[in-house]
Amino acid sequence: MKKYWLLLGCLGIFVGCTSYPTEIINKYRCVQPTEWSETATGVKTHIKTKEKILALTMDACGSKTDSLDKELIEFLIREQIPATLFVTSRWINKHPDEFKWLASNPLFDIQNHGKDHRPASVNGQSIYGIDGTKNAKALAKEVLDNANKIEKLTGKRPIFFRSGTAYYDEYAVSMISEMGFQSIGFSVLGDKGATYTAPEVVEAFLTAKAGDIIICHMNHPEKETGKGLMQVLPMLKKKGYRFVLLRDYADRLE
Ligand SMILES: [Zn+2]
Repeated sequence: MKKYWLLLGCLGIFVGCTSYPTEIINKYRCVQPTEWSETATGVKTHIKTKEKILALTMDACGSKTDSLDKELIEFLIREQIPATLFVTSRWINKHPDEFKWLASNPLFDIQNHGKDHRPASVNGQSIYGIDGTKNAKALAKEVLDNANKIEKLTGKRPIFFRSGTAYYDEYAVSMISEMGFQSIGFSVLGDKGATYTAPEVVEAFLTAKAGDIIICHMNHPEKETGKGLMQVLPMLKKKGYRFVLLRDYADRLE
């Protein structure tokens, strides 16, 4: 019986809120993904370049216990190190003043980490015990609700999306692209979900090479990500690396 209803739901035509792209959603209703990973087809993980540049990306996921590592942000401002910040609606709602503070500084570029921090799935796959978006309509909501929110608050529409956990299936990536956003992954795992000790953060960052996209977190001041970054970012500068915003290399992502 359950299967029967699932099939009906799958074949049914979505006629929902006009603010979601019905045609795109319908196109992805019945697809069968075969990939489920951080490197699904189409996910951008690297800047195509020989220049010694690195993109520092920091996520704010919006869990029950997270906040903002202000000391880390103040360090980046002092050192004039730009960073691309992926934030969720959940986090913005909990930390409106911190969000305004970040968004008002041109050193930082605000991008989309989803409404509810869901892995990007067209059929409800999960990872690390976190449920992905359950279908194409839910994926559209997850992406567009937060993109619209960020645009409304900052006056600037995001051009990138990084799903909660950075997991995607290949159809989700394709659908996100049709909605106008590049799906962003990473090539250097900077803090493993803010679980690394400071020496582990330093070690991870020191593996970075030209064009790498480094992922880490700005929402856990109680952890050692900030301490590690404050040690290793000056070391990378000394090695001749320059930090750039992803937005400035949007046409060179691979
Ligand atoms: Zn996250």
